[in-house]
Amino acid sequence: FDDRDGVIWLDGEFVPWRAARLHVLSHGLHYATSVFEGERAYAGAVFKLREHSERLLASGREMGFEVPWSAAELDVATRELIQALDIHDGYVRPVAWCGTETMSVSPRQAHVHVAIAAWPWPHVFTPAAQQQGIRLATARWRRPAPNTAPVRAKGGALYAIGALARQEAESAGYDDALLLDHRGLLAEATGANLFLVIDGALHTPVPDCFLDGITRRTVIAAARRLGIPVVERPMAPAELAAATEAFLTGTAYEVQPIRCIDDREFTVGDIGMALLKDYQHTVAATARSTGA
Ligand code: PMP
Repeated sequence: FDDRDGVIWLDGEFVPWRAARLHVLSHGLHYATSVFEGERAYAGAVFKLREHSERLLASGREMGFEVPWSAAELDVATRELIQALDIHDGYVRPVAWCGTETMSVSPRQAHVHVAIAAWPWPHVFTPAAQQQGIRLATARWRRPAPNTAPVRAKGGALYAIGALARQEAESAGYDDALLLDHRGLLAEATGANLFLVIDGALHTPVPDCFLDGITRRTVIAAARRLGIPVVERPMAPAELAAATEAFLTGTAYEVQPIRCIDDREFTVGDIGMALLKDYQHTVAATARSTGA
């Protein structure tokens, strides 16, 4: 990813893509004092940009450090970057990390750096997979308890679990992993939230130890608008047997139907497809009204 033309916003300046490097003794690299965002631009405008910028700041605080920019400043930087790179449909990756001022485990003396990169959107899954549904395997790794890790942060530390889970799932021939939580309840995939359709209603786990995704909240609001009942509740893995449809939500995944979880199969059905279409309509309409 480092050998490209273009620019990256780094600590307030646009630097050539290949020059956006950091030192090997960065605190963030050794002790996972890093937080990031995943944003998506549609027709040149980032969907829910302010919410993402605010979540980056909130994630920093959860990890014990202050991101030294306001959400408004990050919004401006993001818009300028997208314009400079002439990105129409793309992915935006802001990241903040503690620097090289200390090798102590405590990041208190460390300077916090911020970078924002953006690139034209490569699909997470092929359009065919998006239509046919993806295959998930239940991971042996679990989402930790809220008193074990800052589970509300979109922090690099938490993604070590996702990295382990997803590479094991892929090695076994699956597309992604489903993580249970510390209690053994259904939690989420490695980069997206989980929904099941049971008796015509949407059921989704309570986000008490994983991200309450921006897409998750958007899809819940859409379902209610479309008259589909939504139930947020603790959910056991055995409940997969009662579900007719299953799908994931996330900035990158949008609404992604699931074809199977382990050996339990689902249909790529009407409710998931209706919510995918509604989501795509919403992001397109928002981009138009932003005037990008
Ligand atoms: N859970 C995890 C672990 C994620 O990485 C993401 C993607 N940010 C989500 C859930 C969904 O969050 P959002 O809808 O805000 O992208």
